[in-house]
Amino acid sequence: LDHRKVVAPYVRLCCTLEGEKGDKVSKYDLRFTQPNVESIPTAALHAIEHLLAHHIREHIDGVIDLSPMGCRTGFYLSLWGEKSVEEVRDALVLSLQDVMKAEEVPAANAIQCGNYRDLSLSGAKEYTSKILSEGISTSIYGEDR
Ligand code: ZN
Repeated sequence: LDHRKVVAPYVRLCCTLEGEKGDKVSKYDLRFTQPNVESIPTAALHAIEHLLAHHIREHIDGVIDLSPMGCRTGFYLSLWGEKSVEEVRDALVLSLQDVMKAEEVPAANAIQCGNYRDLSLSGAKEYTSKILSEGISTSIYGEDR
């Protein structure tokens, strides 16, 4: 992937792996901000992580993991099977709409989180609102936005 050529926000299928018994695991790139142009501040990214990890499971089956990218421009989603990028995009949009309605960040405590003071619900909503208004493409070049 050439990060200079993509147009965020988008959903991309990174790969589908097949295990020895035939089970499949797919990994998706949920890109929120334009690489090397804009990144999400840590507290906002962290709050989006808590909220999305909670809500995306309500909108799509087989979620294994949702994790922030170290570059803070988006998230990785891993799930069982192989779902279309359209299906993942639609689940992501519904989950981001849930983020906009949230009144608190789930698991914002010292028992469930390793840095619970570094969470910003207002920051999460600021970036979520921006991404929803831009529209999330199923093409890395933003062709269907
Ligand atoms: Zn946390």
